[in-house]
This record gives sequence, C-alpha cells and structure tokens, in this order.
Amino acid sequence: MKELKIQPIRNGTVIDHIETGMSLNVLRILGITGENVNSSISVVMHVRSKKEEWKDIVKIEDRELYAKEVDRIALIAPRATINIIRDYNVAEKRKVKIPELVRGIVRCANPNCITNSNEPAESIFSVHRERPLTLKCHYCDRVQSRVEEYLTSSQD
Ligand SMILES: [Zn+2]
Repeated sequence: MKELKIQPIRNGTVIDHIETGMSLNVLRILGITGENVNSSISVVMHVRSKKEEWKDIVKIEDRELYAKEVDRIALIAPRATINIIRDYNVAEKRKVKIPELVRGIVRCANPNCITNSNEPAESIFSVHRERPLTLKCHYCDRVQSRVEEYLTSSQD
C-alpha cells in the first residue's frame, strides 16, 4: 500500500485524522479565512489513513496552536491529532478533547434565545451527548446537533 507523500513543513502545526470533509470547517473554527494569515496553509482532503479510513489533513506553517484552539477542533473532528512541528520534527503530539463548556464559538439554533438578541450574551453550551456531538444551550435549553452548521469564527 502506497502512502501519499505530503510536503513536510519546517515549523508549524499539522492537524491529522480530521473527519473527511471537515478540513475547511477546521480552518473556520481556527479563524483562518485567508485574509488574515501570513503563513502557508495546506489542506489535504480525502486521503487514506493507515487504518484504511478516509481523512483530511491541515498543515499550518509557522503557527503553533494553543490548547484552547485545539479543543475547539474537537467539536467537529473528535479524532483529530495535533502535531507541533519544529525543525521538521514532531516536537509535541496532542489529542483533541471536547471541552465541558463550549463558549462563544457556536450559535444557538433558537432565534429567540438571548444569545441571538440585539444585545447578545456570549453563547454557552454544555455537552449533552458526545457521539454524535449534541450541545445544550445554557440559556434556553435548546439541544442541537450538527454543530458545524452553527460555528462562528473565532475572534481572537
Ligand atoms: Zn439558546
């Protein structure tokens, strides 16, 4: 079995084992839109992993992800692994973990929720169920899945 060779990066972050089709949402959740980025981003879609499953890979040069950002990725790609690359070597390997409380990055599906009002409160969700991921709004108790459709880009 041939393995796809992907250009290695010298420094930065490689997000591997992203559920296929989710790589662009990963960029969104990281607030990477193309206009605000000075480093090179590579997105590899629909490649086979060693376990013969399809996956996406995202490579971000010259940027190391913070733990807070990594946990955001878990909302849409719970099996993702984060490799921090320094001088072509894997300096750190991290797993993503769904945070207990999800703040500010997901919009509530209920249009009457206070988080969608004119003076919106920051959205807060607790994890209702992990697989498939289902969140419960702290304010209105609305339970919602398909989190990727309700992402707001990170501002920081
Ligand atoms: Zn709500």
